[in-house]
Amino acid sequence: MKIVFATNNAHKLQEVRQILGNRFDVVGLSDIGCTEDIPETADTLEGNALQKARYVKEHYGLDCFADDTGLEVRALDGAPGVHTARYAELFGSGATHDSNANMNLLLHNLANKTDRHARFRTVIALLYKGEEHLFEGIVEGEILPERHGDEGFGYDPVFAPEGRGISFAQMAVQEKNAISHRGRATQKLAHFLLKNE
Ligand code: IMP
Repeated sequence: MKIVFATNNAHKLQEVRQILGNRFDVVGLSDIGCTEDIPETADTLEGNALQKARYVKEHYGLDCFADDTGLEVRALDGAPGVHTARYAELFGSGATHDSNANMNLLLHNLANKTDRHARFRTVIALLYKGEEHLFEGIVEGEILPERHGDEGFGYDPVFAPEGRGISFAQMAVQEKNAISHRGRATQKLAHFLLKNE
């Protein structure tokens, strides 16, 4: 079954394809000729995920899912949260989607904090057979004082999931998928799709 994942991020496509397996033909935005920037102007992860999925359905007429992820840091009152991708752009001096600038700002803002607890939360919105569904995945962990590892993307080098002692960027993709926020949300999505195919 063909389904659109509203993303241009090759890492995410790879992660999601690995979980959904070959029962689903997951295609990205470039595969359907969608090159425009889809608006993400809601103030919650749920709102943004729905906004993206609805956009694809409206403009391309295809069943679709979209995700939105936030890094929620306890000592920063849940920031960067819904602003995770644009943290340094909005609150520092970085460009948009600049992972290095985002990590620098995060490490700077946590420099004097002893509480390093953080969690990644992903919400997936699915538009399927005329109905909307939401799936959530959470992974608890902590922000490391410095970067470790070269795998993955985004904040992976500074995020260590609970009980592992290494960062996401030190894990192979399968190892990360098994416990990650998006992995867990995608497992729920996969379970739903397989039941309702
Ligand atoms: P998005 O909603 O998936 O685009 O993610 C928002 C922000 O969270 C971006 O800055 C991503 O780099 C970051 N992010 C999302 N998922 C992950 C992940 O698995 N590891 C590290 N950073 C992530």
